[in-house]
Amino acid sequence: MRTPDEVALAQVEGSIWAVDYRLSNPAKALVFARTDDDSRRQRWRSESVAIELARASGFDFMRSDTSGAFSSARFVFSSTPFPTSDFPPYQRFSDGGMLIYSGRFHACRHHGLVYSVDCKGPWAMSVTAPPGTHIVVNGQVYESEARWLDDRWGSRFYIGPLRPVTRSGVPTVIDSGLPDPITKLLLSKLPDVQAGFSQRLSVDLTPFLFVSYDRSSPVSRISGNTIRNQVFIHFAGRYWDEAVVEGNDAGEILWLLTHELAHVFQLGLEGDEDARWIHEGSAEAFTYLLLQAQFPESHGFWESKRKDASKICAEGLSAGPLATAVGHHRVKEHYACGLLIFLAIDQSLRHQPAHSQTLFDLWLSLVNDAKISLTNSRDFLRALQSRLPADLVSKIGAIIQESKEDPAEALLQLDAMAQNITLLHSQ
Ligand SMILES: [Zn+2]
Repeated sequence: MRTPDEVALAQVEGSIWAVDYRLSNPAKALVFARTDDDSRRQRWRSESVAIELARASGFDFMRSDTSGAFSSARFVFSSTPFPTSDFPPYQRFSDGGMLIYSGRFHACRHHGLVYSVDCKGPWAMSVTAPPGTHIVVNGQVYESEARWLDDRWGSRFYIGPLRPVTRSGVPTVIDSGLPDPITKLLLSKLPDVQAGFSQRLSVDLTPFLFVSYDRSSPVSRISGNTIRNQVFIHFAGRYWDEAVVEGNDAGEILWLLTHELAHVFQLGLEGDEDARWIHEGSAEAFTYLLLQAQFPESHGFWESKRKDASKICAEGLSAGPLATAVGHHRVKEHYACGLLIFLAIDQSLRHQPAHSQTLFDLWLSLVNDAKISLTNSRDFLRALQSRLPADLVSKIGAIIQESKEDPAEALLQLDAMAQNITLLHSQ
């Protein structure tokens, strides 16, 4: 294996950080693996003479502004949080700690015109901790400096005063400024959700839970994401100080926690951009099915999530099938239509005359079949053909991509199946 290029991060002062690229061989340009928007070019400043940031074909890259090659480059940047549809690069804790996403710094040698292809690493990452802080990355705690090898998904690392603490049976880094009722809610439900997925998917996995709280955010919201077995839940805005952690607030928090844990238990399935509905929709359906079974007292709230999805999906399909819903503004449709598709699949499986199954059984059979590639819609639909009634697969196909069938009509029928949800075997 070639020696990976090194990416070194260190705090300069306050929210100003520096990133150093040390290359194993000189290059004339490096393309960044992930470019979501203009933020990198707006927020980074080159500290290397003759190296500049530029943009081509939707990707940021750094290049020599002479014809010479370079073997190191240094940029300084502000780590203040900002909204993005990618993994958030920086997220604050209320005690001064923060989460940083290493994928933002991944960059590859520039080969030809198709910039993103083959930009998969590995990268030798290193981070220096300011005094009084330490680093938590991939389950390990480092005192003054952390070093690790990143793959294409990158890592979110914590840097700050907190140390991981095992609570409710899982390692956690939880913001000490988070209102108590929220912390209690998360920790009291976590074991049931974890056990529920373990049982349904026949696998014992221990997630690592990070929960951060940024009061200074002007917008109040809750968001989450997952990398491998690490779940990140972020509370933003002052709303959470006074939130009544019951009813809808509790429902939303529990839904998000369960959705992110579902990703841990999906066992690494990832989809292409146009197949986001597979990954996100199945996580939504896992969430709905598990919460209906484990917390039936909140049935009304789980049901309202399904009804919202039905509205969002119907509106989205009026602009075209799901395969055309690529880009930031139509991401929600992948969650919404995906939820309804997978609930309809679940109902169909439960009502098979000979051998009743659930969506979880189907998922296991797909994951365990090495011949099946589940990274795009076409392969996924093909895999469903031998496992579900032809009529149902063709309706799913109509929602996903252009076909003779009307997607809106297909959705109505799937929605009718999802509405009549019954949870046999108490699953
Ligand atoms: Zn998700």
